[in-house]
Amino acid sequence: IYIFGPCAAESREQVMETARAIQESCGIPFVFRAGVWKPRTRPSTFQGIGTEGLEWLQEVRNTFGIEVATEVATPEHVEAALKAGIDYLWIGARTSANPIAVQSIAERIRVTGYGLRGVLIKNPVNADAALWLGNIERLEQTGVPVIAVHRGCNHQPCWAMAHQVRLARPDIPMLLDPSHLSGDAKVVPILMGKVAELGLDGAMVEVHAHPEEALSDVAQQITPSCLAQTSQSIPSRLRVESVFSTNDEQQELYWLRAEIDELDERLWETIAARMDVSKRIGIWKKAHDVAPLQPERFQQILTQRIEWAEANGLDKEFVETILNTIHKQSLNAQI
Ligand code: PEP
Ligand code: MN
Repeated sequence: IYIFGPCAAESREQVMETARAIQESCGIPFVFRAGVWKPRTRPSTFQGIGTEGLEWLQEVRNTFGIEVATEVATPEHVEAALKAGIDYLWIGARTSANPIAVQSIAERIRVTGYGLRGVLIKNPVNADAALWLGNIERLEQTGVPVIAVHRGCNHQPCWAMAHQVRLARPDIPMLLDPSHLSGDAKVVPILMGKVAELGLDGAMVEVHAHPEEALSDVAQQITPSCLAQTSQSIPSRLRVESVFSTNDEQQELYWLRAEIDELDERLWETIAARMDVSKRIGIWKKAHDVAPLQPERFQQILTQRIEWAEANGLDKEFVETILNTIHKQSLNAQI
């Protein structure tokens, strides 16, 4: 399942131009996406065009013969989207964090959603596998096929969460949303490689005919021509036998490696942030005529960190070695 289209429906022209450009160049069947109600952080920003945009999606459907998807955050949205003949609904990360909202959407879909092809549920904004699984269960009560979408948290992947959901519910298709996961158009094509590697069931990608003019998510939307290049390497079942195809056992290793890569990235970011604070402490010490090395303080650090480490099942000497190395580097930064 591949879902392409802009973050938001902005104008009839933008919607039609983007749909046409994708259809002419991407080379694989896809569902066209566009949000008409946008859950934005600040009220002063573009909040979505509203129900008018549903008519543009209908026009895409009628003109190009492709299925369409939009985001719903309330039962009223469900009602309006179904009236407009939308094929797939998705529930965004912010709504996914609220079980009462998901339940009320599920109830409306159960009553009125018989024409729907599927309902997609993004992971919640916080990395909570149980909540994501709970939302899948709530939506299963609708009788409409449920599809999970991994969109990460704070522009970072949460492979451990996605892996947990994958293992708990191998029967539920899972898509990757590299756009919201990275927040960076340059990274989107690279992340698409994960679809095949991890045996995911497709992707939802933000594509805009003129990304630099987008009214939301400017930095992460790719152009239709970038998508066309990227989709060359999509090893979907729609293409002939792919060199990327992996078996389930290999996939388990790739999932675990993805978790390691993510943890290492966070580890390095944390060390860099620590070094930065250490430099600021160095500036303070200089200004107050205090020597960089404070043996008492380092002893305190060592004792407490070793306690933490042991509580987490880590070896004392291993932790001491790491701390000594970090401390040495910190002192260098303070000289
Ligand atoms: C979107 O798909 O445009 C969107 C708002 O996504 P998310 O809920 O993942 O932020
Ligand atoms: Mn978006």
